[in-house]
Amino acid sequence: MSKKTSRSRLAYILIAALLISTIFVTIQPFLPALEKNTPQPPPPPPPVEQVAVPTFNVDSAYLFLQKQVDFGPRVPNTAAHQKCAAWFSKEFKRHGLTVIEQPFKAIHYKGTTFNAVNIIAQYKPELPKRILLAAHWDSRFQADKDEKNQSKPIDGADDGASGVAVLLEIARTLATNPVNVGVDLVLFDVEDQGDDNGASETWCLGSQYWASNLHKPGYMPYTAVLLDMVGAKDAKFMKEGISMQVAPETVDKIWSLASTLGYGSYFDPSLRSGITDDHVFVAQGARIPMVDIISTPNEGEDPFGRHHHRHSDNMSVIDKNSLKAVGQTMTTYVYQTYNGVL
Ligand SMILES: [Zn+2]
Repeated sequence: MSKKTSRSRLAYILIAALLISTIFVTIQPFLPALEKNTPQPPPPPPPVEQVAVPTFNVDSAYLFLQKQVDFGPRVPNTAAHQKCAAWFSKEFKRHGLTVIEQPFKAIHYKGTTFNAVNIIAQYKPELPKRILLAAHWDSRFQADKDEKNQSKPIDGADDGASGVAVLLEIARTLATNPVNVGVDLVLFDVEDQGDDNGASETWCLGSQYWASNLHKPGYMPYTAVLLDMVGAKDAKFMKEGISMQVAPETVDKIWSLASTLGYGSYFDPSLRSGITDDHVFVAQGARIPMVDIISTPNEGEDPFGRHHHRHSDNMSVIDKNSLKAVGQTMTTYVYQTYNGVL
């Protein structure tokens, strides 16, 4: 009995040991899984493959500017206006961008109905992260600040053609230096036909229309910048009031980037009061915070320079150094935004 009992005890111990080891072997594979369920810090995002920032070709931009001026004043309801719009679309498409022409009727403050068109050129339209760069493409119907021929239209080499020239060159650059970020180049019509003694709503009719009729419902870019009067000699870009209200961080990024690139003499970090321009209506109508890069070289009278709304706003005021400062800064801005540096 005792022998039998001790043998049985031994058997129980052996069985118990076997059971415990079986249970351990069964549980063990789950242990790492249990560990995995404990909160872990998220893995770092995969590194973005850096893309080199291309050089902005200012000679090419200059030719794009000259070409617009050669059409003649781009005043709505003129042949020059129509031909230039068609050329923009063709040019953007040549660089592989997807173009939306957005025609609309605009009522001029003097009563005329303008046949107008905004042009939206999309680089990689399928990508959700997008950078919006805009400029107005029309030129003023009258030289109201001039002493002569006040009722005649102006060339608008600086006030109109310069911003568009930079955008066209950026389109060409994107085509030859691919980058995995969406870029929308938007040309607003009928910015510059407003009443100097009237309401601010008489200006910027193209951006007003676009802001309430976005080319894509719910469109919201990652960042948005407007270029206006960026090509004249001795251009000076100050931190403008409305831009500072709606997108101060973008302003600071661009101005410090320009300074790093050696263009600090053009991008003056001083603040100046707000200006009625397309960015105001884009911010109000579409809730898109947009920064305005616009030259205001003078204090007080004639802030936009002695050529503003005069016949002297022709090719003679254009300086490649100013175009280069803005063009290289904005090209760098686009590529470094993709690279995650900005
Ligand atoms: Zn103007």
